[in-house]
Amino acid sequence: MRKQLEHLARLQEIDDQLAMMERSKGDYPQRIDELEKTLSQRLQDAEESQQNKEELEKERRQLERRTKDCESRLEKLQDRLSEVKTNKEWDALQKEMDAVKGELSEEEERLLVVMEELETMGAEAETEGEELQDYRSSAEAEIKDLKEKLGSVDSKMAKIRSERGALSVQIDDVLKRIYNRVKQGKQGTAVVPVVRGACGGCYNKIPPQTLTEIRRAERPITCENCGRIIIWFGEVEES
Ligand SMILES: [Zn+2]
Repeated sequence: MRKQLEHLARLQEIDDQLAMMERSKGDYPQRIDELEKTLSQRLQDAEESQQNKEELEKERRQLERRTKDCESRLEKLQDRLSEVKTNKEWDALQKEMDAVKGELSEEEERLLVVMEELETMGAEAETEGEELQDYRSSAEAEIKDLKEKLGSVDSKMAKIRSERGALSVQIDDVLKRIYNRVKQGKQGTAVVPVVRGACGGCYNKIPPQTLTEIRRAERPITCENCGRIIIWFGEVEES
């Protein structure tokens, strides 16, 4: 039984170590997730504004073609004006020219708006592009760093878990059940030493008879106050 109790104490040590390592991961996983989401959102936004820009450029080219077209139509009408013979023809031509002029001024107005938008976009895109590149490289570096840290903790934990597995099979099932039950109820600590004659978990004084039994280690003894398994590790001054 003594050997069994020693295994149990070692199991507690391992579990404490695993819990500490789990805590040491802190908010790394959430931070990685947050960085990845923000980065992908920003890349998507940049992609969308690039598409907007391309659409506006396409519109600008169309407007430029259409204004040129209006201008050449006006020139032709202007030429015909010198050849007209009747007032009626003159009026009809004037009317046609007014319509083309109206069309032209609408297109020129829209072209101005489009060009202004493109200009603003161009200036913004440059700063935004630089900012995005900076953000991207710092976010990617941070993600890499966090993943490395997590990976190293995980691989250490995997080693410790395999040690735990090998140890666990050597421990009696009844003892393991007590251990697991107490551990769940007592924030992870199921095995405690004797500290100055008291339970190392709740500091309740241990009766001399029980203390003798703990030292004999012939059966698992649990604290009558907190239920933790008390093991004799020699005189422990501090827990
Ligand atoms: Zn106790």
